[in-house]
Amino acid sequence: MGEVYSADDLIGGGEVFFDMDPPARLSVFGDPVAHSKSPIFHNAALRAAGINVGYVRIHVPAEKAQAAFRALPKAGFLGTNVTIPHKAAALAAVDEADDYARRSGSVNTVAVEGERLLGFNTDGPGLVRAIHEEFSVDLRDLRVVLLGAGGGAGRAIAVQCAMESCERLVLVNRTLEKAQALAAELASSFQTDRLVGPVDRIQAIPFDETALRQQLAHADLVINATSVGMRRTDPPLIPSALITPNLMFYDTVYASGKSRLLEDATAAGARCANGLSMLLHQGALSFEIWFNRPAPLDVMRQALTSLP
Ligand code: NAP
Repeated sequence: MGEVYSADDLIGGGEVFFDMDPPARLSVFGDPVAHSKSPIFHNAALRAAGINVGYVRIHVPAEKAQAAFRALPKAGFLGTNVTIPHKAAALAAVDEADDYARRSGSVNTVAVEGERLLGFNTDGPGLVRAIHEEFSVDLRDLRVVLLGAGGGAGRAIAVQCAMESCERLVLVNRTLEKAQALAAELASSFQTDRLVGPVDRIQAIPFDETALRQQLAHADLVINATSVGMRRTDPPLIPSALITPNLMFYDTVYASGKSRLLEDATAAGARCANGLSMLLHQGALSFEIWFNRPAPLDVMRQALTSLP
């Protein structure tokens, strides 16, 4: 757990940040936020790039979120990252957001431009880079089964899949209505002449063994965007009997060690990866937005993977 500053430190004018060496000009907002790994790899990147700026964690409770975003320019900040639960609030707080952030309904990167706040979401593009790095394939060429399509991360990934027009997208969610609504919203991105066999290019299904078995027979990549797997005691997300060696598994959860899903996938001989690479690439993309230059990716990766 790292050092955490308060929203009031920022809203009060940010003096504490000016006095630091290097002065803090970047942050991550969250609640909770002490667990965030972002300062570790962003500070390593800033040092490596010779940029005299520090990156800090700021604990922002929901009732102070709007004031904290609006306080960024006066406190001399260049921007902030945003984590749970403020990504939707960040979209509401910014003056302008890019197309993907608007469609995904969330902002994870804010850039300050004068008095204005610009919003971006690097989670989806970060996932695209992570999938390419982990499996040497492009998301757009894959038939994707997305577990947890009803959450914030699930929505962001589904929108990214739609923008890439991936081969197929199956939205799986405990609360089926959320997946159905999202499938209806994204359907137009999948209305092409592309032939992928006797199945629809976008579908919504519940967490049901029979439905999952049918869909996994027409899939290449399974992404877990539920919060299940963060604790060692979590139950299996899908029955291990459904896991076959031809599938790839990407678990957005990046708690230390392998999640149950990835343990089962490894045992079945499937290729798998956890969410550290998505975390890395979404961070690298934030760096590129703030500084308009490539991020020192190897330095960031080294900082992230050397953590206990
Ligand atoms: P969220 O908004 O709370 O959504 C949670 C999702 O999980 C919902 O779809 C929910 O289904 C589902 N769910 C929860 N408990 C379940 C259960 N017992 N069985 C089946 N489904 C269940 O959370 P979020 O912000 O999207 O975050 C989800 C995950 O993404 C987290 O693990 C987070 O660490 C990860 N993430 C990783 C990165 C990265 O860079 N690697 C970035 C962003 C997020 P209902 O709709 O039915 O409630």
